[in-house]
Amino acid sequence: MTSHREPLDSVLDTIGETPLVRVHASPDTVPVYAKLESFNPGASVKDRIALYMLEQMLERGELSPGGTVIEPTAGNTGIGLAIAAGQLGLDAIFVVPERFSVEKQQLMTALGAEIINTPTEDGMGGAIDRAHELADELDDAVVPQQFANPLNAEAHYELTAPEIFDALDGAVGAIVAGCGTAGTLMGIARYALEQNPDTHICAVEPEGSLYSTTKGKDVPEAEYKIEGIGTHNVATNELFDPDIVDSVEQVADRDAHDELKRLAREEGHLVASSAGAASVASLRLARKIEFGDVDAPHNSVVTIFPDSSERYLSKGIYRSFDEWEN
Ligand code: PMP
Repeated sequence: MTSHREPLDSVLDTIGETPLVRVHASPDTVPVYAKLESFNPGASVKDRIALYMLEQMLERGELSPGGTVIEPTAGNTGIGLAIAAGQLGLDAIFVVPERFSVEKQQLMTALGAEIINTPTEDGMGGAIDRAHELADELDDAVVPQQFANPLNAEAHYELTAPEIFDALDGAVGAIVAGCGTAGTLMGIARYALEQNPDTHICAVEPEGSLYSTTKGKDVPEAEYKIEGIGTHNVATNELFDPDIVDSVEQVADRDAHDELKRLAREEGHLVASSAGAASVASLRLARKIEFGDVDAPHNSVVTIFPDSSERYLSKGIYRSFDEWEN
């Protein structure tokens, strides 16, 4: 376990043990705590799953030393995998839909990875197909495929969740997390429900995303600007298990944008849009627990702030809502 108080051998030893910080806009009686994942060396939550997946795949012999990792990724997973692959002596190739931020693609290249862009209109599905085609063409290449790999959620079950429960001495009333692959929420939720089966589990998605349909809600599909969470086709989000989710909270782009700006101005957090959405949903849930509209075993809500706003400055994240691009 990282103590950050002694010299470390590798940047990989700095992954995890991120701080849990109070969100001050939450009610005094039901505090919201956010885990600040930008403290990881690749500045996002995805460093955790990157290292965990590669170590496990090497240990199981699914990946050979010196082999190649190919991943379709919106960016943060690529940065995490590029760091881990580089330090573990593996090659890395990432297939990225064009619309994703240039900062992320520059960082992956700086870390020694190769980037292949696929057309924006083909979405993540197009990137996934291309990654598998490439893996078939190369010897000794694997696609960890974070959208389907149980190791993704397992990393959060093994590492992120125990950190949260230790920090709060087990007094966790609710877990709220934005869902892209849903690995973060699923891993933490499974651990939380083992500690207390009444823990409230809330998935967060942008308005326009379709996770809500898994809970029988008829929501309209639309494009959204919030980056890193949401789905247009729940069949591709194989890790998401609606049975362990109590509620799916939709957040509008505008509300997430207002909140990420408020978090910077009032609370000193440089976080991006998925954190803005997670904060909005957490504050709503904290108020429901405060007013007795939702039952939770403890008066606290824990959420994840997945990455930093600095990664999205080129998209005008701190400009007006209309100038913020996706
Ligand atoms: N926020 C950001 C910025 C992300 O890149 C991701 C991962 N796509 C998430 C949130 C969601 O995490 P998960 O994939 O574990 O659901």
